This record gives sequence, C-alpha cells and structure tokens, in this order.
Amino acid sequence: MPPPPSIGLVPLGSVDQKILRHLKTTLPGILPVSVQLLKARPIPLHTYHIVREQHNSTQLLEYLAQDLPPGMFKVLGVTGVDLYIPILTYVFGEAQIGGDVALISLYRLSQELDGRLAPPHVFWPRIVKSGLHELGHTCNLKHCRQPDCIMQFSGSLEKLDQKNPHFCDYCRIMLNDYLEQQGITNVSER
Ligand SMILES: [Zn+2]
Ligand SMILES: [Zn+2]
Repeated sequence: MPPPPSIGLVPLGSVDQKILRHLKTTLPGILPVSVQLLKARPIPLHTYHIVREQHNSTQLLEYLAQDLPPGMFKVLGVTGVDLYIPILTYVFGEAQIGGDVALISLYRLSQELDGRLAPPHVFWPRIVKSGLHELGHTCNLKHCRQPDCIMQFSGSLEKLDQKNPHFCDYCRIMLNDYLEQQGITNVSER
C-alpha cells in the first residue's frame, strides 16, 4: 500500500509546539493522512489591518499558498493572530475550496466565552475541529446543514463546541469521492 498522503503543518508566527504536536497526532486518526511539521513562516506585515488590529485571512491564505512545500497533499497554516474577512468580525479559519491550503487561528479558540483562557479540555478539541473543517474545504466540501457534521458553519465558539469531530454520511461520501479521485483510499466509518 502506498504511504498515506501528507498534510504539512506550517506555523505562521510563533505557535506552541504542543498544539502542533496535538494536531499531528490527532488528525491521522480521523483522516487517512500523515502529518508533517514544517518550518515556521513569519506573518507578513501587509495582511495586518491597523484599525481592526487583525490579519486579513484571505491575504494570509494567499501568502501561505505561495512557496508551497513540495510533496504535500494539503497545507494547514496555524497562527496565533486574530483573523478577519471584510464581511465578518472574525473567522476561526479559512480555506481554498478544493485548493491546496487552509488556515486556522488559535486566537479566539483559546478563549472562554467571557474572555478568560479556555482550559485544555475545551481548547484542544476546538483546534482539531477547526483544522478538520478547513481541511474538509480543501477536499471540496462545502458547508453542510447536518447539525452533527463537522462541515456545518460555526460562527461562534458555542456552535464549535457543540460539533463533533466527524463528517456526516453525506460529507463522508463526498470526501471519499474526492480522495479516490486523488488516488487515496477512504475515510473509515466511525
Ligand atoms: Zn467553513
Ligand atoms: Zn455534512
């Protein structure tokens, strides 16, 4: 059997190694991939919005898509800075639908609803769920209306916390079709 395809994790700016290692060990249990930790890249100044004090998610994604590391199936950027797109106050992440790159921000995920630091049992599943959701987009999955599906849009931490880290039957079929097209065999039943 060929080795599973690699997802490259790229820290943008400084990111706690423990977080990267958690993604590295957890994602392969859910997707048929291996995860490689890649070299950190600096966050470019041009993505920063001085009034919003946030980084433009789409621009940061484009930056990530330049100089793609060779041999990667997908690349997931992980950053500690807060992200926005012009029509939303903030986003937890963004991805190119059917593209090479996805991005998640730890900024909001690390906070409780009242702004305090979220404890690990709250914070860690959020990182995995956000990473999975954005990687799902890179595999051509769109937002899903199934309440229990990881591809459901979650604009708030409450909604993110309610989701389980798995794909609904419909999304799993779509995902398997995509992976099959890429010569990769499938996502196991859960
Ligand atoms: Zn989404
Ligand atoms: Zn779904």
